[in-house]
Amino acid sequence: MADEYNPLSRYQRLRAIDAEFYHRCYYCGDIANTEDYIPPLARARTPGSYPNAQFFISPSCSECKTLGGINPHVSIEQRAKYIRQALKKKYAATYKKTMLWSREEVETMIADDGMTNITRSLKAVIDMEEDLHGRLHFTGFPLEVNGSRYYNPAESPGDITVFGQRFSSRKLALHSLAQQYSCKVEKLLSLVEDYKGDFEAAVQDLLKQQQQSIQQRQIRQQAEHLHQRYNQPTQWLQRSLSSLWQQHPEHSIEQISQQLVERYINR
Ligand SMILES: [Zn+2]
Repeated sequence: MADEYNPLSRYQRLRAIDAEFYHRCYYCGDIANTEDYIPPLARARTPGSYPNAQFFISPSCSECKTLGGINPHVSIEQRAKYIRQALKKKYAATYKKTMLWSREEVETMIADDGMTNITRSLKAVIDMEEDLHGRLHFTGFPLEVNGSRYYNPAESPGDITVFGQRFSSRKLALHSLAQQYSCKVEKLLSLVEDYKGDFEAAVQDLLKQQQQSIQQRQIRQQAEHLHQRYNQPTQWLQRSLSSLWQQHPEHSIEQISQQLVERYINR
């Protein structure tokens, strides 16, 4: 009689090489309280199934294991990539909320106001964000199986380059760019969302908006000036300046104003 097939016999256990990673989840770096099977055990019940799979058992937290589920992953890289995406999706809304505050701002508030209910909960949000950031951007650690080293680090998705400036996280990019371009963090964040995460497109749009608001202000000031001088209705002056400027965006407001006066006022 043939021995009963035991799917467990096909798997090999991966272990962290460096002590700092003992008992940590390979996918997110949290405490590993379980083990994950690649491919999932439920999928390996038939002898000879998944001939090209690695059959590894990896240290995992139960959340990551659940997110990986019974998807038929055949390598630890494939599964790690899938689980990290799923983690990001799951926490996207929470993570977004924590983007608005920087640790420095919260620490300044605590220094000024002491520990109030508000500063305490803001600090909790910042702590949570850093913890979450660490998990969402974890890239794995060196493993060994049967004495041989096994490591294929994931690329860190945290790094981001905007117009040649490199930032180690999206949050740092957000706060630093908001400061550079003198705009509110909320404003830049909402533009980044409009452009599906494209920081460069968001900054370009912001610059365009800032340029337009400077032009609007110049038009209002110039219209007021012409109103004082020629006693024409301000509304009409604003509209005319604006439409002339649209036709000749290369001119300065003074040149536009002069054209208006020559064409319509001092005829
Ligand atoms: Zn995990």
